[in-house]
Amino acid sequence: MSDHPRKHVVDSTHRTWMDAALEQAEKSWHEGGIPIGSVLVDAQGVIVARGHNERVQSGDPTAHAEVVCVRRAGRRRDWSRLTLVSTLSPCPMCSGTAILHRIPRVIVGENRTFMGAEDWMRHQGIEIVVLDDARCVAWMERMQRERADLWREDIGM
Ligand SMILES: [Zn+2]
Repeated sequence: MSDHPRKHVVDSTHRTWMDAALEQAEKSWHEGGIPIGSVLVDAQGVIVARGHNERVQSGDPTAHAEVVCVRRAGRRRDWSRLTLVSTLSPCPMCSGTAILHRIPRVIVGENRTFMGAEDWMRHQGIEIVVLDDARCVAWMERMQRERADLWREDIGM
């Protein structure tokens, strides 16, 4: 990493943001919900909104982590400078939300357990950074194991 000190700094920042998204995932799990979390970060690297999946908690099928997070961000004019961070590869609805708001960068915790609409976002010019974070994979595997019914409902099986 000594050859790329700048990249190293950026990567550790990504990890700090993912830590915050993972805190949201854990919170949802302890509420009996789906362990997917998201944060929105501004151009200065400050987290401006947090959210987690609330499909179980609220009964709202569209209450995905990223959508909840974007709703909490409220009315803003700096969408084109924000970064959306999610523990799991964003589904078409959440990817569409990022495209709609012209969010230029999406940081994905993992896309092993579920591959969202990453290609669509890339085609729309969004930079996708996949961290392949083992902690994010572990949450989804735990959900598949311990809340299998919820997982099947989530992916429409
Ligand atoms: Zn979604």
